[in-house]
Amino acid sequence: FRVFAELAGRDENEEPLPRSPIPYNYVRREPMGVCAAITPWNFPLQMAAWKIAPAIAAGNSVILKPASYTPLTSIEVGRICLEAGIPEGVVNVLPGPGAAAGEELVASPLVDKVAFTGSTEVGRRIMQIASGTVKKVTLELGGKSPSIVTDDVDLDYAVEGVLWGIFFHQGQVCSAGSRLFLHRDVHDDVAAALVKRADTVRVGSAVDPASDIGPIVSQGQLETVERYVGIGRDEGAELATGGERAVVEGHDGGFYFQPTVLTNVDNGMKVAQEEIFGPVLVVVPFEDDDEAVRLANDSIYGLAGAVWSRDVPRAISIAERLRTGTVWINDYHMINPRYPFGGYKQSGIGREHGTIGFDEYRETKHIHVDLAGGRDKHPWWDTLLPREGAAGRPPRGEARPGG
Ligand code: NAD
Repeated sequence: FRVFAELAGRDENEEPLPRSPIPYNYVRREPMGVCAAITPWNFPLQMAAWKIAPAIAAGNSVILKPASYTPLTSIEVGRICLEAGIPEGVVNVLPGPGAAAGEELVASPLVDKVAFTGSTEVGRRIMQIASGTVKKVTLELGGKSPSIVTDDVDLDYAVEGVLWGIFFHQGQVCSAGSRLFLHRDVHDDVAAALVKRADTVRVGSAVDPASDIGPIVSQGQLETVERYVGIGRDEGAELATGGERAVVEGHDGGFYFQPTVLTNVDNGMKVAQEEIFGPVLVVVPFEDDDEAVRLANDSIYGLAGAVWSRDVPRAISIAERLRTGTVWINDYHMINPRYPFGGYKQSGIGREHGTIGFDEYRETKHIHVDLAGGRDKHPWWDTLLPREGAAGRPPRGEARPGG
């Protein structure tokens, strides 16, 4: 909210290039109108903020449709907006099922733009429905983000970072570092250290400060995670640790799952290609940086990724070749509202955050004013084509008729 408030205060209706004096041209950024924001359950408060803040800073009104599992934080955000003095009707919260409330918003001719965060499958559906009114869409979708660990790495640091990349929020993060690429020379040491450390991650109630990770969001999601571990083993992956529901005292039947590491994985396997959205890390070895880049890019997704190396120029060279919207070097999950976030390939369309994210909520208008109009009368065709035998005026400036 602070970042977009700052951006809203800037005068960006100016052109960066010097203007031609006659005619007078300028560019204006205008609100789009009504924006529908459709959010997932994994970070309900954050996802609401990511969309409401730029939408209203750009002068739009917004209708937020939270995920069915998590409407309460969004309703509270709506209440806070009213309390903060935002006029009634500018920030609206519409809880309801995606197939009903969500599709209605996407299809409605009264809605000018849809900002969606969720699964790639629903993102495809939204694109289809939005095409009926050629609605502007931004899509933040799924991922299968690579973590690349080179052979010159600080082992303890990288192990902690890789763990944080995958197990934070039980792996229910669009940008989770769910594919680990390990250089062969450090493969066995890093894999062993990871497994040892994963076994110390405390699974427990989300409201217990002693817990490192909490429960999976739902029974269905828990079953999906379990199913993928089975698929991985059937495909020939080795279960290095975890793989089962976790037992948490006092929470019998809770949706807890052990931090899980699958080794001996081939990047072509389902567990390396499909988003699991749970605490499951797959480990794939590589020989050299070129192979790491090739394997990391061999995915329908391209949301984020990380490179772990003591050699920063080498890490940058890998980062620049990854087909993902964000690459962290020696860090993970550091999303910054001043810098764009979003996906290449099937991880999405458009960006959130920063000036690029702000522009996703604004229309761009070019205004051309002939300041001489009325005083220096000339027929319109004279400005276009000098006619033979007539004293045609040459086109002025760089303007050419178009359309
Ligand atoms: P989802 O796609 O099932 O639902 C997301 C939202 O879309 C919900 O509000 C849902 O009610 C709504 N919806 C469902 N069907 C709809 C339809 N036909 N028309 C309109 N709206 C519809 O996703 P989810 O299970 O809530 O969240 C998990 C997914 O979100 C994962 O794939 C994850 O990668 C992705 N995600 C992406 C980002 C990102 O920034 N790229 C961030 C968080 C989550």
